[in-house]
Amino acid sequence: MLLDVSKAFLNPGTAFPFEAKVQLPPQDVMGETVSWDEALLQGTYTVVQDEVHLKGTLHGMAHAACALCLGQADVPLRLPFSEVFRKNAGSPEDESFPYEGKAVSLDQMVLTLMMLSLPMRFVCKADCKGTQELQAWQKDISKSSCQDGPPTQRPFEALQHLLKKDEEV
Ligand SMILES: [Zn+2]
Repeated sequence: MLLDVSKAFLNPGTAFPFEAKVQLPPQDVMGETVSWDEALLQGTYTVVQDEVHLKGTLHGMAHAACALCLGQADVPLRLPFSEVFRKNAGSPEDESFPYEGKAVSLDQMVLTLMMLSLPMRFVCKADCKGTQELQAWQKDISKSSCQDGPPTQRPFEALQHLLKKDEEV
């Protein structure tokens, strides 16, 4: 999504309101697929010398599998932003985004903002009990002693992986 900011180049220092929609493709986040609803940006753009300043609020929604029951978990995102676009941005130390001509590309900014605000893990609801297998396995583990070591049945491998992840958090 390219936002035409040519008006602001004609009137430097003046803030122009804008509204834009950005649809991001699904992202692979550490083996999990995260998909997105169309994000809505509302705010203003201002040209200050050679920079384009974008300010406003990003409304979005992220979807991924619940870490416990594997059902769908939805995470609403409401993110205030204040970002700078520079003509020759792109070096690792530079936190601003690049732009070309008289338009700024919003996709990279939206992706960065949303990725940074994702939770450590997705859970469908605060008191999700997890799959029946997970519940049975947890019951089992709490009964048996630690010396037995982890069970080796293949169906539980995915769940073990999830539980390990939980311990690290
Ligand atoms: Zn769940």
